[in-house]
Amino acid sequence: MATKEERRAELTAVFREARGCLRCPELASTRAQVVFGAGNADADLMFVGEAPGAREDEQGLPFVGAAGKLLGELLSEIRLSREDVFICNVLKCRPPGNRDPLPAEIENCSDYLMRQVELIEPRVICTLGNFSTKLLRGEPVGISRLHGQAEIRIIGDRAVRLYPLFHPAAALYTRALLDTLRADFARLPGLLELAPPEQPVRAVPEPAVPEPGLAAIRDLASEPEPEPEVDVSDERQLGLF
Ligand code: URA
Repeated sequence: MATKEERRAELTAVFREARGCLRCPELASTRAQVVFGAGNADADLMFVGEAPGAREDEQGLPFVGAAGKLLGELLSEIRLSREDVFICNVLKCRPPGNRDPLPAEIENCSDYLMRQVELIEPRVICTLGNFSTKLLRGEPVGISRLHGQAEIRIIGDRAVRLYPLFHPAAALYTRALLDTLRADFARLPGLLELAPPEQPVRAVPEPAVPEPGLAAIRDLASEPEPEPEVDVSDERQLGLF
């Protein structure tokens, strides 16, 4: 099992990989920068939005515009801050003109999100709006039917409590949605107090049978592993706490 430090270093490595991503040619050529996600690399609670907007594209951080301000307020109402949670999006690049993410873009980007879940190991994931809810549930049921109902789901290789919420951007313009979002948020502390979901049993790799020609390599393998290099400036850009 990886330590907290190893998971954090690996998350920074995934960030470095995503930063140069060219999987979606249109997004790669129109973005100012990749918005990987930010927050606590060891968070119990993770939020997954849709895609960066103009402000996020400018700053390289998720939810820094009007919807992000509301998200921050809702967090503080339950006595949490952005430093306690990890916030990211389905797409790590801004779609031009803030158009909806395309199915191929969601597919291209989903591996980054799965790796974020596997490395951060959240207990609760709040999907914000339709795109992240449909992606992480793998079903087309929309947010209006699902918001506020937690369920245990396997995401990547982790069992998590998935808790769909209305997207804060939608709640900015509709008072009734804001009231609902606030009421759903108020149930989050209770969800975080529940015992963590039981994790699926992983296949344990068979011990390797040594081959005669591998004696020299065996000697090398007993040398201590070098410490993983952590580039602090990458962590800062990633907004890790
Ligand atoms: N909306 C999102 O879905 N994500 C952001 O980062 C900002 C606005």
